[in-house]
Amino acid sequence: MSVEERLKDVRSRIETVERQAKRPAGSVTLVAVSKTFHAEQIRPVILAGQRVFGENRVQESQGKWPELKAETTDIELHLIGPLQSNKAADAVALFDVIETVDREKIARALAEEIKKQGKPIRLYVQVNTGMEPQKAGIDPQETAAFVELCRRDLGLLIEGLMCIPPADENPGPHFALLAKLADQCGLQRLSMGMSGDFETAVEFGATSVRVGSAIFGVR
Ligand SMILES: *Cc1c(COP(=O)(O)O)cnc(C)c1O
Repeated sequence: MSVEERLKDVRSRIETVERQAKRPAGSVTLVAVSKTFHAEQIRPVILAGQRVFGENRVQESQGKWPELKAETTDIELHLIGPLQSNKAADAVALFDVIETVDREKIARALAEEIKKQGKPIRLYVQVNTGMEPQKAGIDPQETAAFVELCRRDLGLLIEGLMCIPPADENPGPHFALLAKLADQCGLQRLSMGMSGDFETAVEFGATSVRVGSAIFGVR
């Protein structure tokens, strides 16, 4: 299959689950994860109509996205990987959405940069639903207080929650937990589901899925 055919296939699988779950058509945004792929490999996907992309490294993204964004003005770029506070300025300058806010230090650095650059970035709080020590994200029981701090004390635009379930577990309970936490925080958006489990994520209420290898092929 070509990259265009794989994109079409992923789109139609999302639409099928939207229908089965009785969710409105188009309620799930596909974030095409282009990490490790070069501009020449991303261009055909843009040409096929995809506009929302995800990357997990600031520096790698700086090498390809300024050019791609200049060519196509309505690209929406999401940062889905861990962010260091010394990269906050670069991240705010390049990305439209940052999905990996998970501690006060980074929230403060982002608030400062957003103000300085006058660029209202949309943000997600990353939750470590599996409480994995090696994984980024705030603990589930601390999520509500952290979201409140981001909104009230820092004036950040928190749009939703994001998670990456443990690789060796059934993702359903993790997606359900994220949905429950978002509900408690009064948040409507859920970024969850990757190539291996995006259909399950849509069943559990994902409003965006982050799909890489099923579109671009193996990394
Ligand atoms: C790489 C990555 C994805 C996409 O993973 P695939 O399995 O290739 O679809 C999604 N989310 C995050 C946070 C990632 O780092």
